[in-house]
Amino acid sequence: MVTPKRIVLKFGTGILTRIDTPEPDPVQLRKLVEAVALLKRAGHSCIVVSSGAVASGLQPLGLKERPGDISALQACAAVGQTHLMYQYESLLRDHGLHVAQLLVTHEDLAAEERSSRFKATLERLLAFPNVVPVINENDSVAIEELRFGDNDKLSSSVARLWEADLLILLTSAPGLMRDMKRPEEGPIAVVEDVDAIIHHAEEEKTKLGTGGMNSKLRAVQEAVRGGVECLIASGRHPEQIPDLVDGKGICTRFPVSEAAVQ
Ligand code: GLU
Repeated sequence: MVTPKRIVLKFGTGILTRIDTPEPDPVQLRKLVEAVALLKRAGHSCIVVSSGAVASGLQPLGLKERPGDISALQACAAVGQTHLMYQYESLLRDHGLHVAQLLVTHEDLAAEERSSRFKATLERLLAFPNVVPVINENDSVAIEELRFGDNDKLSSSVARLWEADLLILLTSAPGLMRDMKRPEEGPIAVVEDVDAIIHHAEEEKTKLGTGGMNSKLRAVQEAVRGGVECLIASGRHPEQIPDLVDGKGICTRFPVSEAAVQ
């Protein structure tokens, strides 16, 4: 018998697109959606924080690569967000599920009344068994995650606000690597003291997204302090997500900080 968990899954741009091109990857998205559907069928409550709006806007706007200026990124996100949601809705429907889109800013989550309305909306949506909330930054009015973060921080704030049991940050690496130059050594299994490890992490921005490992560790630091267990795992292997939730699989786990503010 599975203990139901409240799970936030963060899908970054780097895992929603093809490797080395900014094109959205429908096969990847299908596998990620399948994993969410499996978790829901197992009785877990799931929220997705998804990037990919900018990447999904490039092709409709005739752009070959991610633009450098903020207004163009915001324009891409405005066009791409609808494409992205269409994909989620189509893929979720195959599992008898529907997408609920929520676009928020850090300011929304910091403002008491707006954040409590947001939380109430989430809870009400999740009372419907066939709904998957998919959250993104509202890129037409906010630029934090466009400039730096790729929704890492947003996913952590959402996980804390919703009092999630687990935040899964999916990225292109299998976790926090022991040694970037020796990938065969694999990721560190458990990090008890994220504060100490942050000092050693190197920023490794990708061409396609804006959230390197440093940004993920900062998000984890906030989440574990807030009482949310985290893990960083490869989004290229969505089939292992149910195992990750069960405490198995290849990833780096970050237990809740002993000094967590509940
Ligand atoms: N909110 C943005 C998106 O959905 C963040 C990621 C990015 O800057 O590419 O695309």
